[in-house]
Amino acid sequence: MQDRFKGILLTRDENKVMSVNVTELGLDDLMEGDVVVEVEWTTINYKDGLAITGKSPVVRRWPMVPGIDFAGTVVSSENERFKAGDKVILNGFGVGEVHTGAYATYARLKGDWLIPMPEGMNGRSAMAIGTAGYTAMLSVMALERHGITPGRGPVVVTGANGGVGTVAIAVLGKLGYEVIASTGRTEETDFLKSLGASEIIHRDELSGPAKPLAKERWAGAVDAVGSHTLANVLSMTSYGGAVTACGLAQGMDLPASVAPFILRGVSLLGIDSVMAPLALRQEAWSRLVTDLDHDKLEALSSEIGFDGIVDAAHQIIDGKIRGRVVVDMK
Ligand code: NDP
Repeated sequence: MQDRFKGILLTRDENKVMSVNVTELGLDDLMEGDVVVEVEWTTINYKDGLAITGKSPVVRRWPMVPGIDFAGTVVSSENERFKAGDKVILNGFGVGEVHTGAYATYARLKGDWLIPMPEGMNGRSAMAIGTAGYTAMLSVMALERHGITPGRGPVVVTGANGGVGTVAIAVLGKLGYEVIASTGRTEETDFLKSLGASEIIHRDELSGPAKPLAKERWAGAVDAVGSHTLANVLSMTSYGGAVTACGLAQGMDLPASVAPFILRGVSLLGIDSVMAPLALRQEAWSRLVTDLDHDKLEALSSEIGFDGIVDAAHQIIDGKIRGRVVVDMK
């Protein structure tokens, strides 16, 4: 193990002005934990963009190594679940927010937060999926639990060109759903259709103030956008349908009416990836082995190195990233 290694450190001065430092770190800069992992692959999620740009207060402990997810190899472990050499995935549990995170050569954290790399997946593919893709899978599983089968009707995916959106389209398409993709980037129509969407709508159709009820257009929805978009999606969901909510790319508000709930029996299903219980996490990661085509994952992901992280973090907040960005840390 190296004594000094590369990392990104977010610091804040006495006036709460944040600095992003691409620097050298030592193990003492990492918070306590019973497992040390060499980070081999990580990703850029929307939340990482919020942390590095300082746009939202996702970092709640200073200084902080950002980065909410990674795949790597255990270097040392005092946790009985893991030993040196084990391949693992980490996502959530406040890593990169309140516990030093993924954007460094090593991470030290609680072994109980790690999951063993599923059979059939490697570090690169796990991080091409990343928190966003795993959240897409949690969303699809929530729709399934609610009985939204392909035969019930179409499913709309908002923020279609984003990380959650692209993986949700690929998984839903593979499972046989008719997928409607809502995007601001209609020039990506061919790409979205290649992932599994059968119809593309412009996000402007959903981004203004919603009526209490509108024409029924879909049986289910995976929403990563929130605000007026989620309100419109709810108003257009057919009788007995279900909508998952995981994101806030348009806003954190929900200017909706109760009409879809009380007149159409529509359900709103909240999706949290950060504190999801271990069994649900493991189910989602192993479903991603079977229910996401490798070729589609390749098509929706691009690769950068450690030096590209800060730039990519700004781009994701500006809505300029298509699909998923995987970071080679080696
Ligand atoms: P991305 O930035 O990759 O995707 C977000 C997409 O939303 C964009 O690509 C864009 O899609 C669309 N979008 C952006 N701005 C707006 C806007 N103002 N109005 C309407 N649509 C907009 O982010 P991720 O996919 O990584 O994450 C999506 C959301 O999900 C984020 O809010 C993130 O914080 C949240 N999230 C929540 C998790 C949880 O545990 N609940 C876990 C993971 C993510 P297009 O160009 O196609 O219109």
